[in-house]
Amino acid sequence: MADFVFPPLVPFVPIEGAGDFAVRRIFCVGRNYAEHAREMGHDPNAEPPFFFTKPADALVIEGAPTPYPPQTEDLHHEIELVVAIGKEATAIAPEQALDHVWGYATGIDLTRRDVQAVAKKLSRPWDMAKGFDHSAPISRIVPAAKIGHPATGRITLRVNGEVRQDSDIGQMIWDIPHLLANLSTYVTLKPGDLVFTGTPAGVGATVRGDRLEGEIEGVGKVVTAIV
Ligand code: MN
Repeated sequence: MADFVFPPLVPFVPIEGAGDFAVRRIFCVGRNYAEHAREMGHDPNAEPPFFFTKPADALVIEGAPTPYPPQTEDLHHEIELVVAIGKEATAIAPEQALDHVWGYATGIDLTRRDVQAVAKKLSRPWDMAKGFDHSAPISRIVPAAKIGHPATGRITLRVNGEVRQDSDIGQMIWDIPHLLANLSTYVTLKPGDLVFTGTPAGVGATVRGDRLEGEIEGVGKVVTAIV
């Protein structure tokens, strides 16, 4: 038995039904819906997928409130389908990729848009725009064994009941098999890794007092209040 000075704390996400999913790492995909790429001023057909990360302990679970982060005056919501990895993957083919998926969830990639804009302008890293504390509210994880591998389904984000983002996960530029195949050429994916798969159009600012409700048909619902 190791004698830790501080015992390791493993972030986890509750599984729909029973149990918990221990989280290892969080990867995120940029600009994976054409309309969102356009709203951010980019050509959706111009580039291969690109990735960034958040710390695993940025997750906000079970409808807990999300503290408005410091160092921003423009916090944006991005509703996303989240893939939970259940089997190690290195440079896999798209045809095999879904064999490595354990389950799915609905997540929100909270973004300090003002910090990101400066980072883009100065060619700096995105870490402080994306990977801050409480930046990843997430629903329960639902096993693929229960729902299969959803390729289509309505994805919505409501702020105080008003629909802000409304699309279909079938509108992704890079679908789940191709995203995982590409990501697995950069890193070896392992059980416990989560992949946020990009957001549709309609991103916008959220402020203290807002109630965010994100839902993906057949996957789940994430709810959090910005406090
Ligand atoms: Mn995103």
